[in-house]
Amino acid sequence: MKENTKETFIPADIHTHSTLSHDGKDAPELLAARAFELGIKHFALTDHIENEKMDSWDFWGALERSYGVYRSLKEQYEGRMEVYYGAELGQALYDLPQAERILKEHDFDFVLGSCHRTKSYARIDRLPDTDEDRYRCLDEYFEEQLALAEWGGFCALSHLDFPLRFISGDVGGHDIDMSRYDSIISRILDVIIKNDIALEVNSSGIRKGLHVTMPSPRYVQLYHDKGGRMITVGSDAHRACEVGADIPQALSMLRGIGYNEICVFRRKQPIFIQI
Ligand SMILES: [Zn+2]
Ligand SMILES: [Zn+2]
Repeated sequence: MKENTKETFIPADIHTHSTLSHDGKDAPELLAARAFELGIKHFALTDHIENEKMDSWDFWGALERSYGVYRSLKEQYEGRMEVYYGAELGQALYDLPQAERILKEHDFDFVLGSCHRTKSYARIDRLPDTDEDRYRCLDEYFEEQLALAEWGGFCALSHLDFPLRFISGDVGGHDIDMSRYDSIISRILDVIIKNDIALEVNSSGIRKGLHVTMPSPRYVQLYHDKGGRMITVGSDAHRACEVGADIPQALSMLRGIGYNEICVFRRKQPIFIQI
């Protein structure tokens, strides 16, 4: 196990994907082994549950296998690394009865609430190349996140400004006037605070062309200024080598804003850990 300094300190990574996700590349055991090797003390696999297209891939089968995988990793790392039973629930509101049934039937420790598409744009990564489409996608995205936050059946709101990964930065390269979303993002943050939902700081934006976390630091600062205290941190790794990636940089940003703790979840209850 590596010795940790502030530059390498990774207390937790609770957003990761294995081959139990349609887009995961490595077996769950490899991701957990990498987490342990990095000295991570709190680890969760959060394989995708893409609620509106469960039959488009073997999401049901993966969901049923995920509990056994969690139990076996928990046992393997007992006393050395805390392992949590996690999931990333996408598009919960597109079929709310089904989402609620899945949550009722699976006793997750930790559920990320996510939007990976909008009503008009099934592929945010392949938007038509017009400003009109980019803004329409963002308009819908934040409206849908607000509705998701108001429903509130999850622990942490994932990658708040996710479409920017494809629209701006190295991937999209387009300048976006984000000031038009100040008001709705402010409302989303108010709602998650009211509903005791954590804000996820997703470090994948750093390595995937945005060079900053998702959400970007200015929204983390706004959440802090509103009194928000529940932050989770995740790499959104889809391969073992990405576990923990850029989390030290995300923690340094959080410390700069004034946070000295983040949280993880056991049985959907927050546990605060020092950073
Ligand atoms: Zn996601
Ligand atoms: Zn993810």
